[in-house]
Amino acid sequence: MALVELSGVKKSFGKVNVLGGINLSLLEDREYVIQGASGSGKSTLLYLLGGLDKPSSGKIKINNMDLADFQDEELARYRNTFVGFVFQFHFLLSSLNCLDNALLPSKLGDFDEGSIKKRILELADFLGVDHCLQKNPFELSGGEQQRINIIRALSLKPKLLLCDEPTGSLDSENSEKVIGLLKKLSKEFGATLVLVTHNGEIASTFESIINIQDGLIRKN
Ligand code: ADP
Ligand code: MG
Repeated sequence: MALVELSGVKKSFGKVNVLGGINLSLLEDREYVIQGASGSGKSTLLYLLGGLDKPSSGKIKINNMDLADFQDEELARYRNTFVGFVFQFHFLLSSLNCLDNALLPSKLGDFDEGSIKKRILELADFLGVDHCLQKNPFELSGGEQQRINIIRALSLKPKLLLCDEPTGSLDSENSEKVIGLLKKLSKEFGATLVLVTHNGEIASTFESIINIQDGLIRKN
């Protein structure tokens, strides 16, 4: 059974049709890369997958359950726990240190803070940013901030890790490192990775490539 199944998913903003009928199955424990020109609908698709927006028509099923049937609380839990999101630009709160930033998702539910903290410390050690946890985000380099972002996205062991051009603000060496880590961590934690990138070289290393053109998946 697919982890996520999209059938006939369309999305328009007013008169602008952005997604024109997407059919897509995402399997458990796999890595997917989404490629397409700027404005082709990649981010829109990611937001729909993450429950941050709703399709204009069509169905999104998560573990065979229709996302449209989720009640508010269930949807909030889905976004916060089932999904991990890494955006191009970091969304770390400058008033909190990095540890507290990474702990934020766990504050939104009934989680055992001790074990989440342990997990964050392990991830930080693994990613080489343990020395950053007590610092504020603005004291960190772009690459370090992105690693804290990744730790936050993985803190609750999401089944679906959505990354929207996560290396857009990094140089090529750090980009490769970050992508390598995202792949490694999602394999290790059994998450399905869906990553948008413009970088063809990075894309070619993925198990599956999804090409979007004018809001439709282009068959190869
Ligand atoms: P990509 O990520 O592939 O660059 P997007 O999914 O961000 O593309 O956007 C696809 C199209 O949808 C663009 O033309 C964009 O202007 C439009 N769009 C995206 N979000 C909105 C919105 N909230 N309101 C109106 N138009 C939007
Ligand atoms: Mg985009």
